[in-house]
Amino acid sequence: MSELLPAGATLERVWTGAVWTEGPAWIAATGTLRFSDIPNNRILQFEHATGELSVYRSDVGFTNGRTLDLDGSVIQCSHGGRSVERDRDGVVETLVDGWAGHRFNSPNDVVVKSDGTIWFTDPAYGIKKPEEGYPGEVEYGDYYVFRFDPADGSITPVVMDVEMPNGLAFSPDESLLYVADSGIAPPDGVRPADRPGGHSIHVYDVFDGRYCKNGREFVEINPGLPDGFRVDESGNVWTSSADSVQVFDPAGTRIERIPVPETIANLTFGGPDGTTLYITATTSLYRIETHARDAAAPYRR
Ligand code: MG
Repeated sequence: MSELLPAGATLERVWTGAVWTEGPAWIAATGTLRFSDIPNNRILQFEHATGELSVYRSDVGFTNGRTLDLDGSVIQCSHGGRSVERDRDGVVETLVDGWAGHRFNSPNDVVVKSDGTIWFTDPAYGIKKPEEGYPGEVEYGDYYVFRFDPADGSITPVVMDVEMPNGLAFSPDESLLYVADSGIAPPDGVRPADRPGGHSIHVYDVFDGRYCKNGREFVEINPGLPDGFRVDESGNVWTSSADSVQVFDPAGTRIERIPVPETIANLTFGGPDGTTLYITATTSLYRIETHARDAAAPYRR
């Protein structure tokens, strides 16, 4: 066991009863972990101190990934709305739902940069998997990562060469953008012969705070694929896989592995001091204490 985990740290299953848990975000103001149960079309909240689980909202348009904005409101991906939306104290507004005259596929995961721009992935799971949204077509013909600037309303593709972009996160200084490729699990279950079927995390250099260049493979994830992941304050990447949370240092060397008994969709840091790792894994929510904290801008404040 590395120094990333306190002595005696053990994985705890704190709740079960979902079909497919995703989109965890720690909401410090209420001491709760908010997450999606996508096929049940609901958003759940787990209270850290009491262990109490409640349904935050139902019939939510099959929300998936979420994060906090700089102001503490919640930014989340909507499969049903094919959009990225904001939930501020229960009032939901659509922020952006298309590019160049086309609707998005089904935004999957989202991060907020320290300059307030919102970056998100747009694979097709929410329009090709009937249990995760509503049937639809891939209107712009591919699967991109987009940058949305709420200040001027601009929407720009920033990564176009990842087969099926899924989780994403910046390095602590935001000079790198990591993007997971879950192409090995195509949304309609059919592997196109002309696509590689990847299961890697890619990394890009970010220039001028907005241009992604020099894309390359950071690590290949086995078994399974990388879905959601987070970067800690030291630049380590904590990723989902089929059987464990795997932690890679910035050089791509695996330095920790935390076995989890269900396939992991996503994870996030939370708890009163930000060092509790919450893990959404298929039907359940797990957690384990760590010595790490999230590097993402909203959590640094
Ligand atoms: Mg995802």
